[in-house]
Amino acid sequence: MRQPLPETGTDWDTLKGRMADYAAGDVRWRDGKTGVYVFNAGPEVERVQKEAYALFMSENGLGPAAFPSLKRMEAEVVGFGLSLLHGPEDATGSITSGGTDSITMAVKTARDYARKVKGLTGQLNIVLPRTAHPAFDKACAVMEIEVRRTPVKDFLADPTAIGAAADDKTIMIVGSAPCFPYGLMDPIAALSELAVARDLWLHVDACVGGYIAPFVRMNGSDIAPFDFELPGVKSMSADLHKYGYCAKGASTVFFRSAELARFMTFDFDVWPAGRMTTPTLSGTRPGGATSAAWAVMNFLGVAGYRDKQGQVVAAREKMQAGAEALGFVTLGRPQLGILSFTHPDVDCLAVWVKMRERGWFSSMGTEPRALHMMISPFHLQVADAYLADLAWALGEVKGSAKPVAAEARYSG
Ligand SMILES: *Cc1c(COP(=O)(O)O)cnc(C)c1O
Repeated sequence: MRQPLPETGTDWDTLKGRMADYAAGDVRWRDGKTGVYVFNAGPEVERVQKEAYALFMSENGLGPAAFPSLKRMEAEVVGFGLSLLHGPEDATGSITSGGTDSITMAVKTARDYARKVKGLTGQLNIVLPRTAHPAFDKACAVMEIEVRRTPVKDFLADPTAIGAAADDKTIMIVGSAPCFPYGLMDPIAALSELAVARDLWLHVDACVGGYIAPFVRMNGSDIAPFDFELPGVKSMSADLHKYGYCAKGASTVFFRSAELARFMTFDFDVWPAGRMTTPTLSGTRPGGATSAAWAVMNFLGVAGYRDKQGQVVAAREKMQAGAEALGFVTLGRPQLGILSFTHPDVDCLAVWVKMRERGWFSSMGTEPRALHMMISPFHLQVADAYLADLAWALGEVKGSAKPVAAEARYSG
């Protein structure tokens, strides 16, 4: 709908006030009320994000020759990720604008590798578990690649089903570390064996796990191998703007070798303004997303991440135990920051509606109907309040003749 641009400008203080008014209806994430969309590592990290973003907000990663600063920061951030995820000596990667961008670039790279190195032609496909993120379908819609989703077993990817669905037109198989719907680590070692045996490209989607699982393991949890230490893993996605606690608009995509990564590069020279080579889908690349990522990672360091991720796990364990004490049933055995739980007697989407009345906003599950929490360090401070409201919401739904259920939505 058309909206006339104001004829004259308005002073910044007035505008700030109006923006605050616009935000009046937003979920109160700084109070820990969201279990989705925002990763709240507290005010100190938020300050580093904002100030570091502002410092390079005008700079453009499209021009590394003009901004060697950004090139250097990107190389260091990619290096941090590769060292956390057992990247081999020759492994490489890029910062992208988000998980969807990372996944799209991985699919594009695997496709071009399949075409140019393996000689695949015709209708190509990728095979993924039902629990994989829709970003794969979005990428495949753009590239006209067929998506084959396979059933899960005990909420986990089933390597047998994936192997059965893969054929000589398969450019990629996928495992999640962890998947979003249940927060569970797929059996990546078994998928890696399948990939090696059948010469398939295995992508591990660690968008939500890549920057938490290594630290939870360092803290002593028994996290099974899921990264480049497994020989079948050809590429990985890991989001900086999730459990990396970086500013939004930042993810990483990694490849086992430079030989594979070169199929990601766009290289163009037939227009009258010179050669363009870019690693990712973007032209202009926001410098602030890179500088904020660099600053937050250096601000936290291994010790800072271990501390924050320890708080996430402590909050998840507390919420899990509290929900189970109320009769909810946890789906699978979560180890990281996502918790999904159902209830044998009540509709969890009706519980969601009641929780919303108390200001809580989270994702939902549909197979089975479940409440879903993506937990931040800050949640440790509000876990008791969450559980008290959960007990209240459960009572309300149980006592109601006609509970109203929400429509399950991941976005919108
Ligand atoms: C968030 C997420 C994505 C997509 O990342 P965006 O940054 O939202 O594009 C992909 N995979 C998993 C498992 C995720 O949790």
